[in-house]
Amino acid sequence: MLSKNEIIRWLKEKDAQRLEALWLQADRIREQYVGNTVYFRGIIEISNYCARYCKYCGINAGNKTLKRYRLSMDEILTVAQTIERLDYGTVVLQAGEDPALSGEWITELIKRIKNESDLAVTLSLGERTPEELEAWRLAGADRYLLKFETADLRLFNEIHPLQNNGPWKNRLEILHFLKQIGYETGSGIMIGLPGQTYDELAEAILLFQELDLDMIGNGPFIPHPDTPLGKEYERMKNSDQQAPNDALTTCKVNALTRMVCPTVNIPSTTALATIDRQQGRENGLLRGANVIMPDFTPLPYRQWYEIYPGRLQAYKPPEEQHALLLKMLHKIGRTMGRGKGVSLNYLKKRD
Ligand code: SAM
Repeated sequence: MLSKNEIIRWLKEKDAQRLEALWLQADRIREQYVGNTVYFRGIIEISNYCARYCKYCGINAGNKTLKRYRLSMDEILTVAQTIERLDYGTVVLQAGEDPALSGEWITELIKRIKNESDLAVTLSLGERTPEELEAWRLAGADRYLLKFETADLRLFNEIHPLQNNGPWKNRLEILHFLKQIGYETGSGIMIGLPGQTYDELAEAILLFQELDLDMIGNGPFIPHPDTPLGKEYERMKNSDQQAPNDALTTCKVNALTRMVCPTVNIPSTTALATIDRQQGRENGLLRGANVIMPDFTPLPYRQWYEIYPGRLQAYKPPEEQHALLLKMLHKIGRTMGRGKGVSLNYLKKRD
């Protein structure tokens, strides 16, 4: 187990040779606990409407320049078929906090996916009501992702203005509820938010352990010029306690997360692959991760799910994207997992 001071020391480590030891250890623990298979999750970004004003996010309600879209149920089901045809075990439905995606409509969507496929369904739809979360679980949803984004409550409140909030006290309360009603529960943070310190990153890693999460997704904060934090970033980035929002720090956080939470599923995130196009996805997998979440949002919608800039540059048609990912896995000696890839951390609690 790692102490907070040890975690901070690793987060600040600059020596490439010493860091090799960190990567190696995280990779060994990954192999020992969750093996060499990499599970693929197909993401569909079903709506970019959002009622919230999160200061980091390009689809926040205040961004009036963005074209908004919402996929129809048939469009989503067609993409889910492609995901299943490529032998992915999971579809992830993600969206802004869109009130027009009503509880009943999502329930119907989950039921149809479950009836028409053998896919696990992961939801990432924000801070919805307890009744909705429960109804979706009953309809067959398997997993829920909700990042707490930062372990510093003051910073969290600063970047999530109190507008259009639901019934919850905070996101930790929601995570406890999700676990309680039987979801495989995922969370995570952004790395390098303006005002985020090394100390706070270490707190977040220890909080992952305390929350006993099943999935932990961490990605770098990528400044979006049309958001309040995108503008603030330039001012903050030179302070010496400021945690960097780079690929190296993201890999350190993932490696340390693997060390303190050995049985969780950790994705090598799209945000990491976006800031390091050559090596990001691969390095993530070599430094603790065991999941990837390729984007299947069809064109033209994908360009409008602009939570941060640069996402469209990575666009490839699904088959081509899949072939490239398999090639990358082959190169690093890993194989694609078949089936749903349920988190070992979740299974172990159910034994
Ligand atoms: N509305 C849901 C929610 O907030 O959980 C799901 C959609 S939200 C866009 C998904 C994730 O995008 C957030 O948890 C956040 O970590 C990430 N995100 C948003 N803006 C980002 C940015 N500028 N840089 C990196 N990640 C970002």
